[in-house]
Amino acid sequence: MKKVLITGAAGFLGSHLCDRFIKEGYYVIGMDNFITGDEKNLAHLNNHPNFEFIKHDITEFIKIDGELDYILHFASPASPIDYLKIPIQTLKVGSLGTHNLLGLAKAKKARILIASTSEVYGDPLVHPQTEDYYGNVNTIGPRGVYDEAKRFQESITMAYHRFHGLETRIVRIFNTYGPRMRLNDGRVIPAFMGQALRGEDLTIFGDGSQTRSFCYVDDQVEGIYRLLLSDYEYPVNIGNPHEISIKDFAEEIIKLTGTTQKVIYKDLPVNDPMQRQPDISLAKKLLGWEPKVDRAEGMKITYDYFKSLTAEELYKSEHKDFKNHIKS
Ligand code: UDP
Repeated sequence: MKKVLITGAAGFLGSHLCDRFIKEGYYVIGMDNFITGDEKNLAHLNNHPNFEFIKHDITEFIKIDGELDYILHFASPASPIDYLKIPIQTLKVGSLGTHNLLGLAKAKKARILIASTSEVYGDPLVHPQTEDYYGNVNTIGPRGVYDEAKRFQESITMAYHRFHGLETRIVRIFNTYGPRMRLNDGRVIPAFMGQALRGEDLTIFGDGSQTRSFCYVDDQVEGIYRLLLSDYEYPVNIGNPHEISIKDFAEEIIKLTGTTQKVIYKDLPVNDPMQRQPDISLAKKLLGWEPKVDRAEGMKITYDYFKSLTAEELYKSEHKDFKNHIKS
């Protein structure tokens, strides 16, 4: 039985990856420090014979007994309000955490896949974004802590590949959504759906002309799975190219939820990218992959998930308290 270590296992993408690898017959070790992840996302795997969980902060030395075939590195705050609140942890998990995992991969002769992001393109001047675009990132802006951590992560991963011959994979993940997103993580989909469910107005940042392209989680996981098993070591975009402005997206959410609330406008966050759409030609060619779930279908499943939350979860509007989880 192949063994895989998944960091950020209690997070949105990490927990879906745990499910997928278990389904494919792997033995999965999940690792998380719960700084942004949630135990609830893994509760259904608690007594699974092929799953084990280790609570650990990967910026500290990582010890795993026995052999390891694969590592998937998905630990990181990933929503703008998270990395604004915990900027140093965001930088550390992308740099020190990645370094520790690369060292572990080398020691175990394991293949490692690193979760990168469309944020490496910053506020892009090339549209749609192809993998050979170097990006437009403000190093010292509030988003720089995430963007630069991820850019460093890609560099050190390629260095381990080139210098040590490590088998590495890099996925550049574009906006992804689905069940288990954190209701209060500040991202646009949980924000709009939570607002609709609580009977609040929908907050559009800026004039809503900025665009995003949303990928359903099952499609994202399929792309990541195929990339891991491919033999391509350079970055690959995985996302859904179906682009929409935030203003039009708010209208879609109003229709889907049937809310009678209106839209209100707030300031656009600093360095908020104005447009984002993945060019997925490479993933199509290399992996025979493209998204299958259209937005209407994915949004309905996601809304059903948010509807199933308890009133306590829905009204717990305060942001996750990171203090208990931060060591240094
Ligand atoms: N956004 C918005 N209202 C909200 C939350 C987000 O208009 O309540 C906007 C945000 O400014 C951005 C887009 O929606 O332009 C997507 O934001 P998100 O935080 O989901 O992810 P990002 O792609 O910016 O990392």
